[in-house]
Amino acid sequence: MLQNKYQVIVVGTGAAGLYAALSLPEDTQILMITKDAIQNSDSYLAQGGISVLKDEADYASYFEDTMRAGHYENNKESVHVMIESSRAIINKLLGYGVEFDCYEDGSFAYTREGAHSTYRILRHDDMTGKEITSKLIIQVKKRRNIEVMEYTTMIDLITNSKIPSVCEGIVIEESSGEIKNVYADAVILATGGIGGLFQNSTNYSHITGDSFAIALRHNVELQDIHYIQIHPTALYTKKKGRKFLISESLRGEGGVLLNSKGERFVNELLPRDVVTAAIKEEMEKEGTDHVYLNISHLPADIIIKRFPNIYQRCIEEGYDLTKESIPVAPAQHYLMGGIKVDTEGATTLMNLYAVGETACNGVHGANRLASNSLLESLVFAERAAGKIIKEQQREYCRQMQFVHELTATQAVQLPTEKNTGTQSKEIKNMVETQVLDDYKRYELFRQLIWKEIKREDETFYVRWCNNAS
Ligand SMILES: Cc1cc2nc3c(=O)[nH]c(=O)nc-3n(C[C@H](O)[C@H](O)[C@H](O)COP(=O)(O)OP(=O)(O)OC[C@H]3O[C@@H](n4cnc5c(N)ncnc54)[C@H](O)[C@@H]3O)c2cc1C
Repeated sequence: MLQNKYQVIVVGTGAAGLYAALSLPEDTQILMITKDAIQNSDSYLAQGGISVLKDEADYASYFEDTMRAGHYENNKESVHVMIESSRAIINKLLGYGVEFDCYEDGSFAYTREGAHSTYRILRHDDMTGKEITSKLIIQVKKRRNIEVMEYTTMIDLITNSKIPSVCEGIVIEESSGEIKNVYADAVILATGGIGGLFQNSTNYSHITGDSFAIALRHNVELQDIHYIQIHPTALYTKKKGRKFLISESLRGEGGVLLNSKGERFVNELLPRDVVTAAIKEEMEKEGTDHVYLNISHLPADIIIKRFPNIYQRCIEEGYDLTKESIPVAPAQHYLMGGIKVDTEGATTLMNLYAVGETACNGVHGANRLASNSLLESLVFAERAAGKIIKEQQREYCRQMQFVHELTATQAVQLPTEKNTGTQSKEIKNMVETQVLDDYKRYELFRQLIWKEIKREDETFYVRWCNNAS
C-alpha cells in the first residue's frame, strides 16, 4: 500500500531504475513507480548487447573507441569509471541469473558493433535488453523492501519551500487519475530519454522526457540536451508508432547499406552519427525516404539463429532478411545529454539523483558508442545508490549528534514537517499540475524541451525536432 514517506523513491523501471533499487540495502524502504507496465521500458527493447572490458589489454582500445565515437567531448573520468566497473557489473548480472551467448567451451561469444575496434559486446541472441531487464525484475519482485507501482506517473518534484534547492519527494498521478504527494529522503530519476516526443523514434512512446521538463521548472541544471542520437537503421514503414530498430550488429556481422541502385555508399562500421549523415545525404540525393540493408550473403540458418527477433519482425512486415534487402531509414534513438550529474548521479538539487539515459555525466560525449548505454545505466545506477547510502549514514550521524546536543541543552526545537514549511510549496505544485490533463501536460513538457534543444542547437532542431522526424 502506498505510504506517505519512503527512504528512496525510484522513478522508472528500466535497467537503471531496477539496478539502482537492487543496489540499495535490503532494509531501505523503496518506492518504484513507472508510467506503464513494469517491463515496458527502452531497456527491455535493447537488442545488440552490452559492452564490457574483455581484458586489461583492451582498456586503451575501449577507452579510445568510446572517446572517438563521442567526438572527444566525453568526460574522461566517467569513461574510465564505466570501463573499469564493467566486469564487476557483468559478474553481478550473471549472479542475478542473466545469461549471455557462449561458445560450446563455455567462453563468451563476444560480438562487435559499429565503431568498436574489437569484439567486446556480450549479447543474448538479439534480445539482450529483455534478458537483462526481465532478470532484474524477478530480483526486484523478490525484495520485500521494494514496492512497485505500475501505471503511475511522476508529474512534479516537491522541493522545500524555505530551501528550494532541496528535493523532498514527488507528485504522482495514479492510474485512477488521483494525484498524491509522496515524500522521500532521496529521489532517483530513471525515466529514460525523449523518444516519445518524436514522430519517428525507436523508443516507447510513453518515454517523453518528463524529468527534463520538470527539472527545467525547478532550475535543475541540464547538460547537452541537444546531443540526441539518430539511429541510422530503423525498419522503414509508413505506419505510425514506435519504429523497429535494426541493430547495428547486423552491420557488425557484415550487413551492407545500399541505395536504390543497389550501390554501397558508406563504410557501415563508422560511428552512428556519420552513418546517419551519409544515409540522410543519400536519401536527399535520390529523393527517397529510405535506403536498403542487405545481409542475405550470409547463410540463412546463421541469420535466423543470430537475429531471431529481427528476422521474425521483418517477416511480419513482409521482408525475408535471408533473401532480400530490407528498407531502412534513420530514427531518433538515444539522448546523450540529460540532467547534469556527477559520477555518483547527484544533480544540482540536493537529494535528487539521476541515472541512465535521464542523466548526463558526459560519458558518451557528443555521440554514444553502440552498446555502452546499458552498461552505463548499470554502472552509474549502482554508484548513485552507493552515494545515497553514504549520505543517509552521514545524516544519521548528524542527527544522532544533534539529538545528543539537544538532550544536553534542551534548547532547540527539532525540525518537523510543519515547521520546515513544505506545505505551501506542495500546494503550489499540486495546483500547477493538477489542472492539466495528460495531453496538456505532455504539450507543456514538450514545448519546454523543444525550446531548450532549439536554444542549444537550432540546426538540429529544424532538421529533426518539431515532429519533422
Ligand atoms: C530499440 C532499442 C534498442 C537498443 N539497443 C541497445 C543495445 O543493444 N545496447 C545498449 O547498450 N543500449 C541499447 N539501447 C539503449 C538502452 O536500452 C537505453 O538507453 C537504456 O536501457 C536506458 O535505460 P533507462 O533505465 O535509463 O531508461 P528506460 O529503459 O527507457 O526506462 C525508463 C523508465 O521510466 C519510466 N518513466 C518515464 N517517464 C516517467 C514518469 N514521468 N513517471 C514514471 N515513470 C516514468 C518508463 O515507464 C520506464 O520504466 C536501445 C534502445 C532502444 C530503444
